[in-house]
Order: sequence, then C-alpha cells, then structure tokens
Amino acid sequence: MRTRPKPQNRRSGAEDLPLDADIERALAQICAGELVAMPTETVYGLAGDATNDQAVAKIFAAKGRPSFNPLIVHVLDLEMARRYGEFTPLAEKLARAFWPGPLTLVLPRTKECGLSLLVSAGLDTIAIRAPDSNVARRLINACGRPLAAPSANRSGAISPTTAEHVRESLGDRAALIIDGGACPVGVESTIVKTDGDRVILLRPGGVARGAIEAIARTPLQTAADEKIEAPGMLSSHYAPGAPLRINADAPRANEAFLGFGNIAAAGTSLNLSPSGDLVEAAANLFGYLRRLDALCAARNLGGIAAAPVPREGLGEAINDRLARAAAPRTGSKAP
Ligand code: AMP
Ligand code: MG
Repeated sequence: MRTRPKPQNRRSGAEDLPLDADIERALAQICAGELVAMPTETVYGLAGDATNDQAVAKIFAAKGRPSFNPLIVHVLDLEMARRYGEFTPLAEKLARAFWPGPLTLVLPRTKECGLSLLVSAGLDTIAIRAPDSNVARRLINACGRPLAAPSANRSGAISPTTAEHVRESLGDRAALIIDGGACPVGVESTIVKTDGDRVILLRPGGVARGAIEAIARTPLQTAADEKIEAPGMLSSHYAPGAPLRINADAPRANEAFLGFGNIAAAGTSLNLSPSGDLVEAAANLFGYLRRLDALCAARNLGGIAAAPVPREGLGEAINDRLARAAAPRTGSKAP
C-alpha cells in the first residue's frame, strides 16, 4: 500500500484553492492506487496515479482496452511538466500559449522521471498536458503528482461529457465519480509532437490547427506526412533488443525467461505475476521486458522466452504487446 504522497508542487499556482470533500475523498482513492473519474474541460477522465504501475494497469482494465495505448499525463503547469518531459523551446512556447487548456504535447521522457512505464506503453515519450478545469487542477494539486487520465468510458464507446455518461459506461469501475457538470469543450485535446521547429499533429481536438500555427509560425504537419506513429498505432513501441519468443512453456538454454503464474523458471527469469493476476502482470510487463533485455545484453544471452498469458481481461492487451515485441523488426523507430 502506498502512503499519501507529499505535495511536490506547492509553488505551482493552485496552492490556495480549498480542498472540498470530493477532492479529499478522491485524494484518498488516488493515494490508495484506485481510480477516480474527474471532469476536465475536454471530457471526463478516468484518473489514476501516473507514477503507479498498478494504478495505470487498473485504468486499462477498467476501460477494457484490447491493447496498451499510451495515456495522457495531467499536470498543473509547465513547471510541474518539466519534471517528466524534455521541452524544446518550441514545445515550451506552445505550453505557455495554450496551458492550461486542451493541448497535449508528446515529449521525450526525462531520465528518472518516476512515471509508470505502462503510462507510455513502453515508449520513451510522454503525452502531457495541463487541464483547464478547477476540479482537475485541485485534485492534481492535492495529490502533488501527475494523473494519468484517458476518457472515462469503456473502450470503443463515446467519450463522456457528463458524470451520468461516466456512470452509464463504467458503472462501479471507478472508485469515485466527481460530478463537475458538463465539460465545456466536449472533445478530446489536440495532440502534437514537436521535432526541431516543426509541429506534427497526432490528433485533432480542442485547440484548432490555426491557433497552433499562429503561435508556432509554421504549418502543422500530419502524422501520415511524417511517417510517425498515429495515435493508437504501436509500430514504434519499445521492442527489446534481444529476440522475444512467445507462448514458451520453458526457456531454452541461453534464454532469459518471462514467467506467468505457475509457469516459472529458475535462472535468469522474472515472473509477471506468480499468482496469475493479469493487472499485476500488466503493471510489470514493460519494466520486466526492459530488465530481461538488459540482462541478455550483460550476460550475452540469445533472447527472451515468454510464458503464455491467458487472453481474458488485460491478458488481451498483454498478448497484443508481446506479439508486437516478438514480431520481426521492420526497421521502424523502435529504439
Ligand atoms: P486518451 O488518453 O484516451 O485521450 O488517448 C491518448 C492518445 O494519445 C492516444 O490516442 C495515444 O495514442 C496518444 N498518445 C499518448 N502518448 C503518446 C505518445 N507518447 N506518442 C504518441 N501518441 C501518444
Ligand atoms: Mg477515449
């Protein structure tokens, strides 16, 4: 069980806002690694502690997502965002112009940022924004840490813009739903990535193209033009340097092993969840792949074998991710 996080951002501008009963209750749930549906100016978000792999895994489970899309991390402001993302001058200019507000920036993760690997779905980048909603800001301020928050609906359903929509879609999958009325923007945030002095549009949303172009003083490029990942596409996701062999019942000589449940091995192995808990397995997946990859390099092993993982619940996303990591390399942007 995690202890109450220490507020780290008391100088960040929302320190004088009162904590009402909803925020207090929400804070307790977030600190306990549970999920809270919170209003933002775009749509309702299903929020969890972005530094807690288990909480992030619960978000994927609650949404019923068949694969691990990276999630947007919500912070108070630029000062707080700098701890988690590397800002170029252009990214900073955009943040200053549009935050708080519905613009999400995709940035390289800072070293030792403490964010869950699962929140980036194993990528070396992070999608981050400062929401312009009093409730969301008060909750982030109270938690003193960033909140991962995709739209608070089951996968494939329409994004919720009222607390009632959240209740209809998620039922009791959120420990608490904060009712902040209807969301004023009503569509998701615009997502952009900066590359030198170019800005690449990954998803249109609440900030119009023209507004971004006026600040950036350059036309927006589209993801297709740039052959980079469109939202939801996993082609450039982290894949281990060592070959990965999936659905293996045991490692061969010279292989590291990623176990699951009672399929474990001695030697160079890690077990995603000895008890067979798929939420725990999802929380461990990217970290364990990286650790085994490093071990392969250090000990000159031939590859990683991964035990079969059941396909129910989060197992579908875990299998999707493992299959992609095991697929022949296409020479795409996998680091
Ligand atoms: P949601 O959290 O449901 O609003 O969705 C977040 C969107 O942001 C997804 O479509 C992701 O593909 C996209 N996204 C999040 N992180 C990244 C990233 N590091 N690189 C590219 N796209 C991202
Ligand atoms: Mg959504």
